Amino acid sequence: MATPKKPNKKRVCPNCGRKMVQQFIGLKHCKCGVSWKKDEGYFERTPDMIFALERQVTKKSKNSIKTKQVPIIRYKHNGD
Ligand SMILES: [Zn+2]
Repeated sequence: MATPKKPNKKRVCPNCGRKMVQQFIGLKHCKCGVSWKKDEGYFERTPDMIFALERQVTKKSKNSIKTKQVPIIRYKHNGD
């Protein structure tokens, strides 16, 4: 057996088998309503979900702060 390759293949929807489209790094969507988020895995989209990017601090030192953007899910509230 060859050495295992890095997982480089396109993420495929577990529901319908189509290729998922990336919206942000770590967040992909499929047309059938399934989405995938890093750390959370697959889930079904609902109409009240809003996808956004948020900056998170990954490293803090004396005079510099490192941040990265991570996808987050917000939920619409009725009557907002
Ligand atoms: Zn799908």
